[in-house]
Amino acid sequence: MTTVGILGGGQLARMMALAGAPLGLRFSVMDTSAEACAGQFAPLVVGDYRDGEALAEFASGIDIATFDFENVPAGSAQWLSERVPMFPNPRALGTSQDRLAEKTLFGELGIPVPGYVAVDTPADLDAAIARLGVPCILKTRRLGYDGKGQFRIRTAGDAGAAWEALGAQAASGGLILEAFVPFERELSVVAVRGRDGEFRTWPLTENWHVDGVLSASLAPANVDAALEARAVGHARALAEALDYVGVFALELFCRDGELLANELAPRVHNSGHWTIEGAETSQFANHLRAVLGLPLGATRALGQACMLNWIGEMPQLEPVLAEAGGHWHDYGKAPREGRKVGHATLRADTSGGLAEALERVGAALGRESQVAPVVARLRQ
Ligand code: ATP
Ligand code: MG
Ligand code: MG
Repeated sequence: MTTVGILGGGQLARMMALAGAPLGLRFSVMDTSAEACAGQFAPLVVGDYRDGEALAEFASGIDIATFDFENVPAGSAQWLSERVPMFPNPRALGTSQDRLAEKTLFGELGIPVPGYVAVDTPADLDAAIARLGVPCILKTRRLGYDGKGQFRIRTAGDAGAAWEALGAQAASGGLILEAFVPFERELSVVAVRGRDGEFRTWPLTENWHVDGVLSASLAPANVDAALEARAVGHARALAEALDYVGVFALELFCRDGELLANELAPRVHNSGHWTIEGAETSQFANHLRAVLGLPLGATRALGQACMLNWIGEMPQLEPVLAEAGGHWHDYGKAPREGRKVGHATLRADTSGGLAEALERVGAALGRESQVAPVVARLRQ
């Protein structure tokens, strides 16, 4: 019996454990919170990731390690990887923990990115705004997620407020100023690479964010084959450069037929949740297959799927369950403003059928505005 250790016990670890049960796997999860929702399905070691004792307890009970979030302290990841096989490797993790290192790698691989400048002081910020122009976005280089640690700069006069909001973090992890991309679409490539180097991608996903948080994903995205091939090529180049093993997502902005890379998430990704019911093999199952050195499953889509995130609190489940292709995922978390507490996936054989199902669910739950951009895309 193999026990997979997951650093981080949120919904990603929870869905990984659920996907691993049919493979006969056991799981152990480490998290800083005793309330971590993966703990409802796997033994939970509670402790700070830098706490050597807790980490040693976690390491002693597992055969292989992976993680459900990218902010594992580098030293802890390194320590663990010297004791048990760990995938993805600490270098892949370290690169994607730092927006500057990540963008530097994108550049080295010829992957286009939005304009950016590293910022360490208020004077740097003024110079960076002058160079990139407005609007632009100041971001912490490290530890950001769901749009946290970001400040949108609309005019040069916003520099003071931006520094006030994020300047304290210039000393700890550094800041980066990015040009604002007036994109037409946001896309993501969810990809998997096995221990033997086999590489697969699911069909491209189109994503809609609200206030920096993912709201809806549609797959397969309706994009032309040449654009998809370019996106997949970028993902493959990154996977090979990092000797990556497991699932990752590459977030892209699409503008005038051009693709600009936003960030790489070194883990299973929210924009890949649709693969649970919408693809032959889910991202969670394939991540486990990859890290365990098992054959990868097919990634083809089963019709059209749309994932809707539930943020703050769970809505009523009946309208989704009443749909022929409706699927419900409650993460078992306490409601809290801004928190991802669950998602639904609607699946249909045709775009028209999916659009109708989304309209019914949107109307029944009072979520018309959440489904509207997806319905518009499906009807285009
Ligand atoms: P997560 O890891 O949860 O995806 P994050 O906190 O790392 O989020 P980003 O992915 O950098 O944040 O940004 C969140 C969203 O904000 C993006 O998906 C996009 O909608 C918007 N955004 C971020 N950077 C830019 C940019 N340079 N131009 C335009 N929009 C942007
Ligand atoms: Mg991110
Ligand atoms: Mg992102």
